[in-house]
Amino acid sequence: MLKDNTWSNRFMGSTDCYEKASTIMVGIPMDFTVSYRPGTRYGPQKIRECSYGLEEYSPYLNRTLQDKNFFDYGDIELPFGDIINSHRIIGESATEIFSDHKKAIFLGGEHSISSPIIYSAFKEYGNDLVILHFDAHTDLRTDYYGVKESHASVIRRVAEFVNPKNIFQFGIRSGTQEEFEYGRNHTNFFPFHVLEPVLSILSGIHQKPVYITLDIDVFDPAYACGTGTPEPGGCSPSDIFKVIQALKDFNVVGFDIVEVSPLYDSSDRTAILGAKLAREGLLSFL
Ligand code: MN
Ligand code: MN
Repeated sequence: MLKDNTWSNRFMGSTDCYEKASTIMVGIPMDFTVSYRPGTRYGPQKIRECSYGLEEYSPYLNRTLQDKNFFDYGDIELPFGDIINSHRIIGESATEIFSDHKKAIFLGGEHSISSPIIYSAFKEYGNDLVILHFDAHTDLRTDYYGVKESHASVIRRVAEFVNPKNIFQFGIRSGTQEEFEYGRNHTNFFPFHVLEPVLSILSGIHQKPVYITLDIDVFDPAYACGTGTPEPGGCSPSDIFKVIQALKDFNVVGFDIVEVSPLYDSSDRTAILGAKLAREGLLSFL
């Protein structure tokens, strides 16, 4: 009986078998390039724990996790402090999932994890791959204090292998002048707004493989205070739930939810939001 008591170790509704699952969930407890406040290494386990406060049924989608064949692998082990080798291990894990023709959902962890993950998806899906990036920050720095793998540079790294014309950025409201100029000139750049620009591009990406990377600080700190670099003036959860509903049954091959930091998360509201985003993503498009 004690051995079976693993309720908080897996996300609610997870099956117990990788082979039979069509979608794999992986926690990435990495937080060592963060620029301001660390703590996102605790994000994945807190999101899992908070998932048990929610229902498996989504009234938005009229679908339930009871009908969803996904497997929560748990957190991968990383050599703490070693960015290069951690990114290599993260990339190898993602490659294993994508090459098995399964979909993937990743719980961060800091945003830098998305670069090796998206590279793995790019190797599998090629030049058709479309990136939807939700964030308060552009994440387009060439480097941060000389660190090219910084979470503040993650989309700039992705733009070195994914054509920037296949990268769509939403909700952005912070960055340097150079980053904003790069975004306006190279990516599909939609500062400040989320829902309207997503709806405007749906018909153009309908047939393509899509990867979604969602930094929890895209939300206003009122809804998501538990993050390392909160930025006032963000969107509401209902905006993003509508985005997820609009992407129902699209060919989303991967989804990450990053930068949840339980250390600053009074009342666990940010981790609960992360868990609800994961449930909605699993039921809508994964
Ligand atoms: Mn951010
Ligand atoms: Mn980010």
